[in-house]
Order: sequence, then C-alpha cells, then structure tokens
Amino acid sequence: MSVKVITSRCPQNHPCPSVMVCPVGAIQQNGYDAPTIDESKCTNCGRCGRFCPMGALVVNK
Ligand code: SF4
Repeated sequence: MSVKVITSRCPQNHPCPSVMVCPVGAIQQNGYDAPTIDESKCTNCGRCGRFCPMGALVVNK
C-alpha cells in the first residue's frame, strides 16, 4: 500500500481537502469519514502526504 491513512489523526468532521489535491482522483471520502485511497489510481506522487495538516496521509516512497 503506497499511502497509509492514519484514521486516528483525522478529525473526521469536515470535507477532506486532500481530495482536491490528488491529481488523479485517487482519494475518496464517504461523508466526513477519513478518506480512502484507490491504490489502482494512486501514482505515489506524495502531494497528499505533504498537504494534510494533520499528518493523516503517510506516503510510503
Ligand atoms: S500520493 Fe498522489 S496520487 Fe497518491 S493519493 Fe496522494 S495525491 Fe493522489
């Protein structure tokens, strides 16, 4: 898995702004739940990991 979502760091109370940051639409969110990653789309670019202020998205290079 290239991006790990650390749900304990995500407040899960807002629309995830990282969804808009992903250039390939690999981040989905169901309601205000912590986001999930579609690994078949993810290119491991690292943008979401740098963007999330909570550090909830950890990109494994
Ligand atoms: S690493 Fe890049 S491609 Fe993968 S989910 Fe994050 S922003 Fe999207």
